[in-house]
Amino acid sequence: MKHFTIPIFVPHLGCPRQCSFCNQKTITGVRSMTPPAASRQIEAHLATIPRDAHVEIAFFGGSFTAIPRAEMEALLQAAAPYVASGQVSSVRTSTRPDAIDGDVLELLSHYGVKTIELGIQSTSPQVLSACRRGHTTEDCYRAARLIVSRGFTLGGQMMIGLPSSSPADEVETARAIIAMGAKEARIYPVVVFADTPLAEDAAKGLYAPLTVAEAAERTVAPMEILLDAHVKLLRVGLCETESLHAPGQVVGGACHPAMGELCYSALYRKRMREAISRLALPKQSNLKISVAPGKLSMAIGQKRCNDTTIRKEYALESLKIVEDPALVGFELRVDLLSSEKGSS
Ligand code: SF4
Repeated sequence: MKHFTIPIFVPHLGCPRQCSFCNQKTITGVRSMTPPAASRQIEAHLATIPRDAHVEIAFFGGSFTAIPRAEMEALLQAAAPYVASGQVSSVRTSTRPDAIDGDVLELLSHYGVKTIELGIQSTSPQVLSACRRGHTTEDCYRAARLIVSRGFTLGGQMMIGLPSSSPADEVETARAIIAMGAKEARIYPVVVFADTPLAEDAAKGLYAPLTVAEAAERTVAPMEILLDAHVKLLRVGLCETESLHAPGQVVGGACHPAMGELCYSALYRKRMREAISRLALPKQSNLKISVAPGKLSMAIGQKRCNDTTIRKEYALESLKIVEDPALVGFELRVDLLSSEKGSS
């Protein structure tokens, strides 16, 4: 059955904080959300979705459960008729860890919320403090425990390249997300938005954002940890919204229209190197690398960067990168071809 998500962006509504990296209006491209507007969006999406599809309404952006109770309930009520009629199977929300408690979870459950994504961002106390998150590492664990124990599906959101964050912190955060019982995750390399404390710090030289290429490389380790633990990676890199690319909105960091694809390509590059290093390759070898169906463009990389890099690094005579229906996920297989000339 095909799955569709109807995203309802709730920017900054009720969020009591100003994390140093956050400019929700720019990220979501939306400036406000009302229950009638939410209903109109749901109707508009449903009109384009096949009747037999699995449909989910997702309240994203801001901190959904930090919205004043009446406003939050009004938005949930806007979604409720579609859940009751069976047109929509479930609802998901995203929120911050210190905006979760037993009462909120009871309300969410009442309105058909099945999945809660926690904006964890980092489990390092230093990083949380440097980002002015306003909650502790223990808040993340406490919220996750409550969510899982009440039978919700937990999603964990984390960031790459935050102030004070090291690659080791990010690996630790990915491991913590698994330990918390998350079944899903999103990884966001930092994009520096205008009019944020992070942009000010970057302008003063107090924070050095990762470049697109650095962020792609650094995202690989957390991605691998999560994928190896069978945590579903729902997204890597921010959604491309119009305002993300509007002039002056982004002042640095990992802003690229295909950031996720770049990260997956970096993952393939790493796996190709590991697999080839296990072979005793004669000089001028002809290699075939097979990947799962649908993964060819990520494996080859943008502008054929993986193809070019691997050929050069291993002084290959030829390299074919092909799909193999026997492979799944991000598996790959390297075969040494005899004297045949390959092409890719
Ligand atoms: S808690 Fe979320 S919405 Fe609020 S400022 Fe931080 S990142 Fe933005």
